[in-house]
Amino acid sequence: MSEKSPGNLLVKFNVIFILFLVVGLSISALVYHFGNNIERSTSQLIDEDLQVYSNFQQLRKQLTEQESALHAYYASFNPSLFEYDFIAAHGGAQDTLDQLAHYFDHTALSALMNNQQIVMEIATALDANMRLQTRSQTDWDLARLQLQQVRQLMQDTHPLIEQLTGIVSQRVEQSKDRVGSQLNYMNVLVFIYGLTALTIALLILRSVKAYLSANKLNSRLALFPQRNPNPIFSFSKNNIVSFANPAALRLAAKLDHSVEALGLKLGQKIDSFQQNIKSEEKAFERFELLLEGLYFQCELHWLSDQRQWDLHLTDVTAKKHAEQKMVFQAYHHPETCLDNQYRFREVLEQFVEQNTVFTHGIIEIRSYSQLLSDNTFNKNHQVVIEIAAVLDKVCHDMPEDIKLFHIGDKNFAILIPSSECAALVKRLVSNIKQQINLAQFSGQHQVELDFGFACSPHDGKDVEEINRNTRIALDSSASQEHTEYMMFSDHLGEAIARQNALQVAMRLALKSGDFELYFQPQLDVTKNRVIGAEVLIRWQLNEQWVSPAEFIPLAERSGMILPLGDWILKTACEKAAQFAKSGYEDLVIAVNISPKQFTHPNFVENVKSALFDSGLKAKNLELEITEGVLFNNENATINSLHILKSMGVQLAIDDFGTGFSSLSYLKDFPIDKLKIDQSFVRNMHVDSADQSIVRTIIDLGNNLGVTLIAEGVEELEQLNMLKEMGCKEIQGYWFSKPLDEAYFNDFLASKQSVA
Ligand code: C2E
Ligand code: MG
Ligand code: MG
Repeated sequence: MSEKSPGNLLVKFNVIFILFLVVGLSISALVYHFGNNIERSTSQLIDEDLQVYSNFQQLRKQLTEQESALHAYYASFNPSLFEYDFIAAHGGAQDTLDQLAHYFDHTALSALMNNQQIVMEIATALDANMRLQTRSQTDWDLARLQLQQVRQLMQDTHPLIEQLTGIVSQRVEQSKDRVGSQLNYMNVLVFIYGLTALTIALLILRSVKAYLSANKLNSRLALFPQRNPNPIFSFSKNNIVSFANPAALRLAAKLDHSVEALGLKLGQKIDSFQQNIKSEEKAFERFELLLEGLYFQCELHWLSDQRQWDLHLTDVTAKKHAEQKMVFQAYHHPETCLDNQYRFREVLEQFVEQNTVFTHGIIEIRSYSQLLSDNTFNKNHQVVIEIAAVLDKVCHDMPEDIKLFHIGDKNFAILIPSSECAALVKRLVSNIKQQINLAQFSGQHQVELDFGFACSPHDGKDVEEINRNTRIALDSSASQEHTEYMMFSDHLGEAIARQNALQVAMRLALKSGDFELYFQPQLDVTKNRVIGAEVLIRWQLNEQWVSPAEFIPLAERSGMILPLGDWILKTACEKAAQFAKSGYEDLVIAVNISPKQFTHPNFVENVKSALFDSGLKAKNLELEITEGVLFNNENATINSLHILKSMGVQLAIDDFGTGFSSLSYLKDFPIDKLKIDQSFVRNMHVDSADQSIVRTIIDLGNNLGVTLIAEGVEELEQLNMLKEMGCKEIQGYWFSKPLDEAYFNDFLASKQSVA
């Protein structure tokens, strides 16, 4: 609670009030006490001291009267003056002395009384003297003596009276001092009281001000729950709703409940949080609540001063749904709604962590890029969605718990927690292929899938390893046309490891100029002349020859064939230009061009610049392309062929007969030469089928007016047969193995001299 809360201020108020009361009462008591004292002192002064003063006054008068009466008696001889005046004055003085005796107990008073007694005796004696028969009988001397004595006695009273009035004056003085000091005390007290009252008044004023401003703040705060758009409930100690703001009422109405019923429900739900707050002595607890399909962010407070629970609710349903949607989107493929790569990764990590024995598979849509280029965007999506549906159904229909994920546009992943690896994979692939082959995707498309599998823990003990090996199996399956699927094996792993090492080494070799060009001479058998040579790349890695049949396809896959092919083309043109300069002006140098290299948009330009830079004539350059390049029948390819042809470059089809293309391209494309693949030549002298194929190719070429060259001629028998069949050119170990530049130069020189 804030310091200025009305509760605090009330306490402050009470304290001030009690203080004021205590101070007031104490001061009043003291004033009363001092007033009493003053009253006592003044009443003594008035009742006693002043009376004493007047008694003395009276006494003096009575003494004077006595003396005067006696003197008058003596002078007038009138006894009534004695009888009445003197006796009355003496009696009066006697009374006065008696009264004073109440006040004083002093020797001076006793002396006075004694004095009066003597006066009386003398006066009586005087009277007796005066009452003698005649005036002459009266002893006047005695009478005068007696009067003298009386006067003396009267005079004696003066110091006594003085002494006594001095005492009274002293008492009056003391009483005056006492009253004065009491009055001073009272003044001080009244001043203190006044000061205290002023201070307290100021304090009260301040507190009232604070109270008013706190009240103002409180009434403003009181508006907070009223105007708060979020529901607020207050619960009494036994969870009965004691307050519900308008938003809470609206919520109750929305949920079709009375506030009390809704409060009851909420009360049950917050029970555990209430326990928490109490047991852990927390100020509040924040939590989320699901209430009849709505999500609420809640804050529960225990207001100990008011002995009540306050529950603040914020409807976060929309946010929650958005979050759920985001989570769904984060873990599902947007089109197929299958679990995506992130979920896959999580499950895979879980499997590995829990040491689950499982099979991991990746399924890839074959020729996906072809599919993309053949169809509209929407249609492709449709195809992928339908493939996903087929895969999903097949996986569900299998008895095993097969988890399917859509991990990339063309990739699906499979996780099967089962130790039965090989047999299970065979069944799964067979079921999928059956369904995929039956289906027409997007109404018209046939699709093929590639499969790669690996079994954990044998093929990988961690996520990366198992994933990598499955992908290796997939890549291997995809690179082999007619493979059903591929299971990862140690052998496959080793092969891939070597490929990876070769890729790295190739990059370095290209930089450091480790590649070399060899030349395999080609012979015109009719003229027995070296007509040219095929350029073959050579590479030694760690003093071991690496076959181009191994690294060229790798370079092709990695894209490295482009810089490598460019280097080969340029170097071959430079060497050929040197041969031409050395006098071999008709020598044709055949350079192998990989499909990726040939179809690259810059290829023709590269050829032009290689020719230009080296100064080689186009007629001395032959480009060997494979049938695969022509298969696509791309306009760009046809254009390139025509441009090259028009430049005067020779075009040869390498490994002819191994492709699947139709032969019709032979008449459409400007081809100069067919290179009969060595697989037909190898056994043609012993295999009649190969012999027939070779003969057919030679006939075809001759009919089309295309030059024929047989590769891989190793035997004289083969040579003779080829000659007999009408093949004019040969290349092979029979004539010469591929030679390095120096040997090739020697070879050329020796053949020229032979020729
Ligand atoms: P290819 O273009 O068909 O090359 C002919 C292959 O046959 C060469 O193998 C050659 O050494 C071999 N050969 C030649 N005569 C005989 C023979 O009588 N008997 C046998 N058994 N083999 C013979 P190499 O050099 O290993 O090249 C293999 C393949 O690698 C080549 O086949 C070609 O496709 C590719 N290649 C080689 N060099 C290059 C190159 O510089 N660029 C490109 N793109 N590919 C190349
Ligand atoms: Mg070749
Ligand atoms: Mg060949």
